[in-house]
This record gives sequence, C-alpha cells and structure tokens, in this order.
Amino acid sequence: MRHKFLGRLVLASAAMLFLAGVGRAQQTGEVDDAALRAADADSANWLTYGRTYSEQRFSPLKQIDEQNVGKLGLAWSYDLQTLRGIEATPLVKDGVLYTTSAWSIVYAFNAKTGSLLWKYDPEVPKEHAKYVCCDVVNRGVALYKGRVYVGTLDGRLVAVDAKTGLPVWDVQTTPKDGSYAITAAPRIAKGRVLIGNAGAEYPVRGYVSAYDAETGKLAWRTYTVPGDPSKPFESDAMQRAAATWSGEWWKAGGGGTAWESMVYDPELDLVYFGTGNASPWYDELRGKGDNLYVASIVAVRADNGEQVWHYQTTPGDNFDYDATQPLMLATFTIDGAKRRVLMQANKNGFFYVIDRETGKVISARPFAPVNWATGIDANGRPIENPAARDLKDAALVKPSAEGAHNWNPISFSPATGLVYLAVLEDTSLHAIIPNWKINLHDQTTGSDRAYRGPARDEYLKIKDAGRLLAWDPIAQREAWHVDLPDPKSGGTLATAGNLVFHGRADGKLSAYRATDGKLLWEFDAGVGIAAPPMTFSVDGVQYVAVASGWGGPQVLGNRPAGKGHVGLGKLLVFRLGGTATIAPYKRVVRPVPMPTFKMEATAADVEEGRKLFANTCSRCHGGDVVSGGSVLDLRYSTQSTHEMFEEIVLGGARREFGMPSFTGDVTSAQVRLIHAYILDRARESAIADAAAK
Ligand code: CA
Repeated sequence: MRHKFLGRLVLASAAMLFLAGVGRAQQTGEVDDAALRAADADSANWLTYGRTYSEQRFSPLKQIDEQNVGKLGLAWSYDLQTLRGIEATPLVKDGVLYTTSAWSIVYAFNAKTGSLLWKYDPEVPKEHAKYVCCDVVNRGVALYKGRVYVGTLDGRLVAVDAKTGLPVWDVQTTPKDGSYAITAAPRIAKGRVLIGNAGAEYPVRGYVSAYDAETGKLAWRTYTVPGDPSKPFESDAMQRAAATWSGEWWKAGGGGTAWESMVYDPELDLVYFGTGNASPWYDELRGKGDNLYVASIVAVRADNGEQVWHYQTTPGDNFDYDATQPLMLATFTIDGAKRRVLMQANKNGFFYVIDRETGKVISARPFAPVNWATGIDANGRPIENPAARDLKDAALVKPSAEGAHNWNPISFSPATGLVYLAVLEDTSLHAIIPNWKINLHDQTTGSDRAYRGPARDEYLKIKDAGRLLAWDPIAQREAWHVDLPDPKSGGTLATAGNLVFHGRADGKLSAYRATDGKLLWEFDAGVGIAAPPMTFSVDGVQYVAVASGWGGPQVLGNRPAGKGHVGLGKLLVFRLGGTATIAPYKRVVRPVPMPTFKMEATAADVEEGRKLFANTCSRCHGGDVVSGGSVLDLRYSTQSTHEMFEEIVLGGARREFGMPSFTGDVTSAQVRLIHAYILDRARESAIADAAAK
C-alpha cells in the first residue's frame, strides 16, 4: 500500500511532494525499511527507539508549544503494578502504543483512550535477577512488519504479533542460564533485528547479534572482546584486540557488553554500538593494556557485522566507564565543512563529536567535573591522571561509576542546535576487595563495597549534584542548565514547539523552553521518572507519554538510598486540556520493629557479616541494610523469614520473588555471619526509631 502511495508521489512536482509530506500526518501501512528511513516525516508516529534512525528524539509536532504547554493535563494513565525501575520508550504506530515494563513484559494500548489491547509476559525466571547489575528493567521494543520485538532479561529475543500479542518466534541469544541479560530495545536494520546483551559486571564476553526479522535465524554475530587465543579468532578485529590484553582475560570473559546504544546509519550502511567495561573492573585484577574493544564506540557493516572502525573512549577502563550511552547521528557544518557526525555524552564526563565515516574524534570536552583525565589529546586519547588508577588504598574518581551521563536518552533539537541531557555530578570510591578471587557465577567487578579506610571519610563528605544541561555540540559548551533538587533524573525529549520534556527522581515531569531553559510546566507524577518522554499524535491531537517507576542502581545499590520516590510505576499520557488525575504519592515508612529472633554472635562475627553483606547482598538490598524501597528491606524481616534464612539464601526458597540461591557464592557459615549483621542492623534501627518517636 505504502509503496504505491510513494510511487504516485514521485510523479508529482517537488512542491507537491513537499506539501504531501507535511500533510501526511499519519501514515498507515507497515513499519518497513522505507517507513523507518522516512520516520522523521511521519510526525504522528514514533516508530523506533530514538524516533528516527538518527535517534535525535526530536519531534516535529508543535500543537503543544511554549505558549500553551501550561494547559497540558493527564489524558490517561495505566498502573504497571511494579516497584521496579521502568526505563522504556513507548513506540506508537497508527494509534497503538507499545511499551515494556519490568521483567520484559510488553503492553499494547489504544494510544488515545488507554485501553489495554494486549499484554505479553515472556515469563522471565525471577531468579535471573541475580545476573542483572542494575534492576530488572527493559527499555522498549522494536516494530517491524506487523511484529513487536523484545529482548528479555534472560537473554531471549522474542517476536510478537503486533495485533494479537502472541509470540511468533523466541530465540535464546545468550548462553542459557548464563550470567547475561538483555535490557536494551532491539533495533531494526534491513530486515534484521539487532540485539546486544548486558553483563560486564559478570564473567561474560560481549557481542552483538543480528537476527532475520521474519524467521529468527541468526544472520551474524560480532564479538566485542577477543576470546581464548588458543582457538582461532573470529575476525581480524579480534586478533588485533588480543594484542591489547594480558594475562588470561578470556577465563573471566573480558566483558565489553553492548548493553544499550545501537544505531543504524542508512547513509553509510553502518551499525554503531557502544561497549561496556572490562571484567573485572580493575586492571590490577585482569591485567594491563587498553583492552580493545571495551569502553569503545564500534562501527560495523550492517550486512555482516564486520568491523569498520572503533574509537575507545576509555582505554584500559578502570572506572566502569561503559561507552554504551545514547549515540546520536547528525550532519553538521564544522569549520566550513559538512561533517557526518555521531555524538555521545559519555559516562566518563566527555561529550564526543566523532566523524562517523572514519571514527576520528572531531572534538571532545568535559560536560561535568572530571578528575580521571585532564583532556583528550590530538589522537583522541585521554590524558590520564595516574592518581585515579592508583588503588593501593582507594581512589576517589569523578565522574562516578554511575556516569556523568548514563543510559537515559538524550535529545537534539535541529531548531536550537542544542543537545539536552541529564548530568550527574558524583564521585566513586574505587577500592579492590582484599584477596579477591574470581567467582564464575556471580559479579566479577572486584570492587570492594565494604571498604573502610581514610578515603571513605573523604568520600562521605562529597555532595553529589545533578542538572538538566543544554549543550552546544559544535561549540562544545553549555548553553544553559537547570539545577535539580534530586541529582538523579531521566531522559529528555525535544519538540518543534520549542520545548524540552524531562522527568526526575522526585516524580516531576517538567517542560522547559528549549532556547533558554525557562520552566513552563510541571506535573507531579509522584513516583520518580527515569524513562524518557516521547510524543505522538492520533486524530490530529498531540500527546506526550512517559512512564514513572524509579529503580535501577540508584535505588538498589550499595549507596545509601537517594531521595528518589520509589513507588508503583505508571504509564502517563498527556494532552492539552487533559483532566485525568492520579492519587498523590505517599510512601509510608514504618519504624523498624525489634526482631524477636535470637542468635548468638560476637562483634567480630557482625563485622565479618558486614563485609560479606556489602559485597554479596547490598547491590539489591541496599547499603547498610537500608533498602531503597523496591526490594525487601531486610531489617523488617519477620520471625518466619529469620527462621528460614539459610533456606532462602542457599536453598532458593524465595526464588519466585527474584531472590536467587547463593549456593556456591557463600557458605553456610558465611550465611550465619550475614544473618548476624542483618539482625544487628535491625536492632540498631529499631532502637533509633523507638527513640525518635
Ligand atoms: Ca558497567
């Protein structure tokens, strides 16, 4: 249908073609290659993760603009019924909205009314949560020829019928039950579904795969780090990379997972993706060297995955500076010359503008405080500060392992020439676990979350900060910024209405004037927003959609819980004059009850338990046994939970709730020490809470 329509347009005059393009507010027909290439002109729909192949997340819709955005109100909402993080970008095609929630569950809604059309649950085994560093999140689906594609937390790629929500094919893209995960949205390039994987905090080897969209057959796979050198290398790129590793890196996999950004460039027929950290995090544990292609941006041929160029943003990464942040494509005139560029606000604090034909850095400047490097030299190599890598005791490194910017989508407005992004100003305390040995079925970072030493006192004095930043990518400088009350925030959307939409940890969704950052509108979603807003139109009405749902490492992590509002996530859809409402946010924190369970333990037992808890349990249950709110706060454990403690930790008795068995990671004697520490913390909190009454 659509091809015929385009065919007729070709016969029309250029002027008519232009008018028809503008008037074609809503296309009908399949999401095929032509539709994806023309996604920018199809303003009503949002067909792919970053809206177009350039992933600029700029919408030409302008019914909602800087004059009337104050009248924006809720049109409908849907309760996603989870306390876990929600990170998805909804896609919209012809009035149907497709999105995902925690545990890789897919939803299709009538985009106008919010009525649920179908829900597909891939039934991820909950204990797979053990192999996920940063919550059981999912960032969305891909649409192609009547199907919806989703990557699942347990490493599958599933094609679902867009009309019925029934699975068509389902392939395991990672070793079954291995410590890989998928959280990213798949992308489509020339009839193939591209999918990477996550897990560089575990002993895995990263790769990107392309599957035939129709059949689910593997078309190609390209690795990000070299394998066992006693076996043939899969490519010249892997052979070259092997020379940059030392020791027996392959035994721990190497890491370098492409867990988020992946972009197809139809102009050059290349696919670009970013890769994660090396495994383990520290070169003292894994061996010295640049470790290609970790913490890199890699370009491969779309047809076969063959590497064309790479640029390593953080050679020999020692800081968890994955280069997996959003990649955006644009064409700029720089110093009088037209340049096809790729942009990235990297975790390492530098904003990169790279020539996407060659992979050469055009410019790179810090957009946040950075102490690991003093700049980028003429060859694109960072000028490192050796103190940041010195882990004889511990190092305080800026930006933190969470990144000056992370996975949260960024947007670029061709109208203002500015990139809009969330910035986190924070510091990591990097220390190595004493006498660390690799454990092949758990995390392998080597990072000591139990560290107590002089650097920690310094660390506790450091305050974090966050902002929404408007960045001029050509001049490589700030245009404006807005300081945020909670440092952590979400993705952005830019529109032709001269607006930037941005959600944040305290649940506010805000609209700013794109040119100068003036706050024009705010909605209190209650629950924190990490996901990016997007926009679409149905029957001539423009809508803005975003999901609330505050999770991820900022909630689960070893750090004291942030101020972010944890609660049941919701999909929220707005329109001018919308009058729907949601209940106000309320999180009731009960005083910690005094545990009745008795257990003999010495102060030395409790201290041993603290160290074990910090490096085994805190990544989900929170630093010092204070949960961020989306996973059980163990200080509130009931008598019966205490009685079954070992059965739960080693026996897997709470598997179906996402608490895996830690058999092989901790011994029965160690479980007892962890338990003693939790009881100690519960008693301490109960006394403090009773006194505070
Ligand atoms: Ca990482």
